[in-house]
Amino acid sequence: MAKMQFKSESKRLLDLMINSIYTHKEIFLREIISNASDAIDKLSFIALTDDKLGMTRADFKIEIKADKDNRTLTISDNGIGMDCDDLENNLGTIASSGSFKFKQELSEKEEQQDDIDIIGQFGVGFYSAFMVAKEITVITKKYGSDTAYKWNSAGADGYEIEECEKDTLGTDIIITLKDNTDEENYDEFLEQYRISALVKKYSDYIRYPILMEMTKSRVKEETKDSDKPEYEDYTEIETLNSMVPIWQRPKKDVKQEEYDRFYSEKFMAMDKPIKTIVTSVEGVVTYKALLFIPSSTPYDYYTKEYKKGLQLYSSGVLITENCEELVPEHFRFVKGIVDTADLSLNISREMLQHDRHLLTIAQNLEKKIQRELTAMLNSDRENYEKFFKAFGRQLKYGVVSDYGMHKDELQDLLLFYSSTEKKLVTLSEYVDRMKEEQKFIYFATGENAAAIDALPQTELLRSKGFEILYCTEDVDEFTLQSLMSYKEKKFCSATNDDLGIENDEAPAEEKDSSALLTFVKETLGDKVAEVTASKKLVSHPVCLTAKGGISFEMEKYFNSVQPDSGMKAQRVLELNLSHSAVKTMESLIQTDIDKARKYAEVLYCQALLIAGLPLENPSEYTDLVCSLM
Ligand code: ADP
Repeated sequence: MAKMQFKSESKRLLDLMINSIYTHKEIFLREIISNASDAIDKLSFIALTDDKLGMTRADFKIEIKADKDNRTLTISDNGIGMDCDDLENNLGTIASSGSFKFKQELSEKEEQQDDIDIIGQFGVGFYSAFMVAKEITVITKKYGSDTAYKWNSAGADGYEIEECEKDTLGTDIIITLKDNTDEENYDEFLEQYRISALVKKYSDYIRYPILMEMTKSRVKEETKDSDKPEYEDYTEIETLNSMVPIWQRPKKDVKQEEYDRFYSEKFMAMDKPIKTIVTSVEGVVTYKALLFIPSSTPYDYYTKEYKKGLQLYSSGVLITENCEELVPEHFRFVKGIVDTADLSLNISREMLQHDRHLLTIAQNLEKKIQRELTAMLNSDRENYEKFFKAFGRQLKYGVVSDYGMHKDELQDLLLFYSSTEKKLVTLSEYVDRMKEEQKFIYFATGENAAAIDALPQTELLRSKGFEILYCTEDVDEFTLQSLMSYKEKKFCSATNDDLGIENDEAPAEEKDSSALLTFVKETLGDKVAEVTASKKLVSHPVCLTAKGGISFEMEKYFNSVQPDSGMKAQRVLELNLSHSAVKTMESLIQTDIDKARKYAEVLYCQALLIAGLPLENPSEYTDLVCSLM
């Protein structure tokens, strides 16, 4: 049969594996065993409903054989197996999740050193066997198929597939080890004590027995009582793993490193969990859950590729990789496993959605996650802020979505940057230090903290010593709008026309500014809804504030997602009557009305610029300024 070529990305990964100088090549065994276990998961799920298969849970196993004469290591499973297409698609290309992600990371980091770190941090799948193999043969027969296939590859120059004989379902992976070199001794992977130690180290929790024929030594029966006992070899099949999944073990017996390793292997994660939640519940529903909160945002988190959900087991049988119903949208960053005996084993995926037990578990888990996050916020602020940096945006979306249904649950988990504290604060911390005369919780919106620092609208608030929360993400303002109030204090934007305070320093010369205000309004026409004498400006001549429900930030947001939305905030131009520029304009009304009109236009444009809104006609504006110079 003709040699087939690996797809180019696969080839790249393959080259990397073959030439790897990575020191922990041993992880290949974990990868192969993990694939075997996944394959058995699939067949054992089918076995629940297909009686013809005649297999029960107790029949499933993984076997390891070391052949020192031929220098081969064989890992066999009686799982689902692969057909010709599967071999093509799964072993010939990098379609699989783990390897694909690996590749993505690779293109970001080209350095060899980084490649090595990546191999170490999470599994790289089947291909990792090429770190120790000079040739790999896969003999496999798939459930539902009469034909068995043999896949063979000696590495970079491609692979072959042909039909072959195999009686039972499942897969044998036959690894012919590389020749020993001065630096590397590959023979170690044929030693039973070494294999046994590797299984204990990396694959202990695999829920199917991993069996190996062990050669042992014993005193010959007939020489037992003699002075010179003689020894003989005998073989015995041993189960190398304890088969207790990590989530079934009491928390106190498991080291954090073990949880970390499990997390990164199971979920292909590059980071360490910032929080590991272990919970065991007995009662109306009985279940064990092992949940992880990642410490960094997965690269695909805000894309359609990202799938939320927990792995669901029913008494140790994997029911589904991604049970979405188990985590609410606002905690969709949580990864983990739920194992319960309360589900009927042959429940269909459609029925899962309506299962009462599952619903109860989901509700419990939601509360648990919320409590754990609150505890982290209260007792481990540094890590909480790290978490919030990664997933705060998700919590804010959570407040906004479902008509604000989750706001009570989420509002105390939010953090905003504070103008006075110069760091992230909670709403509760804000309200606790509010000044007595302060009516509202103030916030200001802008690109970044520096831009908000420079907003003239915040001058009065600052001069009063009122704290301002900074909204720098597009979802921030919607979040506060959805909350409406916190502990009975309403939120108020610094660009609102009414800040609920009087500016004592503002001169009481409001005597008759109506002529000036009318003049400016007439000059600007429909560009502004209103022109007022400002109560909040101190050193700046003008600012724009919004009247009615729509703020400038909302206008910007809606116009960015839907350019023809026509969404427009009602603009109020506030004039600082004691500012010299405004005074000059006022006197010009009498002496040079054309010039006064130009002043009004320029001031309006300045107000737009400061509000971060586009000028309607930038060149007109520059002409205007030049004509006054
Ligand atoms: P991953 O395990 O991350 O998907 P791998 O490269 O390890 O990536 O495996 C690729 C695919 O090959 C698996 O997803 C699976 O479909 C198939 N495969 C590998 N080993 C086996 C096996 N022992 N039995 C059945 N299918 C297997």
